[in-house]
Parts: sequence; C-alpha cells; structure tokens
Amino acid sequence: MTSWWDKQIQRADYLASRADGSKELLTFYTHLLRAQKEVYEFLRGRKDWLPSGDPGGDMLVLGDGLAALLSAVELHGPTPIAIEAKTLLESDPEVMRETLMRYWQSPTDIQFFGKASLQPYLKWLAETGGRPIGREVSVGERQCPFCGGNPQVSVLQTQETNAESSNRSLICATCLSSWEFRRVVCAKCGEERPAKLGYFHSPEFDHVRIEACDTCNHYIKSVDLTRLGFAAPIVDEIDAAPLDLWAREHGYQKIELNLVGV
Ligand SMILES: [Zn+2]
Ligand SMILES: [Zn+2]
Repeated sequence: MTSWWDKQIQRADYLASRADGSKELLTFYTHLLRAQKEVYEFLRGRKDWLPSGDPGGDMLVLGDGLAALLSAVELHGPTPIAIEAKTLLESDPEVMRETLMRYWQSPTDIQFFGKASLQPYLKWLAETGGRPIGREVSVGERQCPFCGGNPQVSVLQTQETNAESSNRSLICATCLSSWEFRRVVCAKCGEERPAKLGYFHSPEFDHVRIEACDTCNHYIKSVDLTRLGFAAPIVDEIDAAPLDLWAREHGYQKIELNLVGV
C-alpha cells in the first residue's frame, strides 16, 4: 500500500523532473518529504510509545528522529537554512527543543524548522487519536480544528451528492490534516460577497488557481482534484509557484507560506 508520504514523494519527484521555474524548490521538497517521512516512520516504529501531544515533553524521542531531517536540510536546503541546520545539528538538543516550542506556542510561517519538524509529529499524533497540548486551538472554521493551524491550500473534489457537503476542504499547514470548508468564502477573513472574491488561473496550471479576497487582501491557492485526480495538493501548490508571483504583484498576501517559502 502506498502511504500518504509516498504519494507526496512520488508526485514531487514527477513534478521536479519536468518543472521549469519551480524545479529547485521542488527538488528540495523531494528531499524534505523523504526526511519527514523518515521522522514519521521513526516515531511510528517506536515500541510502546505514543506522542503525548506536547512536543517539548516528547523531545527525548522526537529529538532523535529529527537528526535525519536536519541532515537532509544541511545537504539539500537553500544556503541560509542549510547553515541553520548545521548549527542546530551541532548545538545542544535544548536549542532544538526551544526552536520547536517557539513555533508551537506562536507559530509563524517563516519558522522553517518548527513547521518541518512538527508536521510528521502532528500527523502521527492525529492518527493515534491524540490531542495537542499547550497550544491554543481556536474554534473558528478558518483554523484547523485539530491543531489551530492556518490553511496551506484549498482542495476541491467530488463527493457523494450530499447537500451538507461543500466539496471543498482546507489542508492545515501545521499538521497536514484537512477540514471541510464552505465553497465561496475567504479562508482568511470569512468574506462571502462574490464581488469581493476573485480568482486567477493560468492555462499552464489547469487544476490550480488563486483565490483572492479584496476585503483582507489575502489569497490561498486551490487545487481542483476534479480536474486532475492524481494531484497531491501540497505538492502541486508548490509547483504552481508562478501563480504566487501574480498574486503578489496584485497586492495580495498569502495566508500561509509553504515550507519552501513560497
Ligand atoms: Zn492542523
Ligand atoms: Zn478575506
């Protein structure tokens, strides 16, 4: 059976092999996904251990797993974070713990190591029925109901005909789980008036579009699986980096930057 991680890796390998402008980003992401999968498998394979939901308290185990991720970033990452990875590898484990806790308590999308490290940890936490501890989880529909994280990407897919289901979901940037979301609504501020919501699409990426809001000036990318069923939204979102350029040039800010900083 292909695991969730393998599916992302295969898609990233494929897109990296044919990408143009985003080739470097995608190639780095192929290495990063492999390292994150390794962290996930390490945690999952640990005998008589389940994540507690408090990454700081779990650092004795998690810290061992993260060495692989730091090494991969040192080897394949863009220079600034490669240098940071090297420093973290050489530092006292307490420094890494502090890095993760800073992100855990006040996440921002420019803290690469916090986000890259906690994604596999939280994915395993969610799958084992745990709950995040020591982090405020907002109850709003625009935040991840599991961990309170921001949406990374919006996904459209066909579901059984059911008036209750919107066919749209958001994938969490922090824990990678997804939640259902209403269709024509800004994922940042909740704006619903169609005149305030704009879409941008380029023939180059038939299944990806920008969803922008003129009320809060934020945008998110949306991956349409009804157009391309085998797309992997978090990977295709990176491949479609040229669309971000358009959004920025038009004054929109992304709700959450992805792991490769786009
Ligand atoms: Zn989440
Ligand atoms: Zn908005």
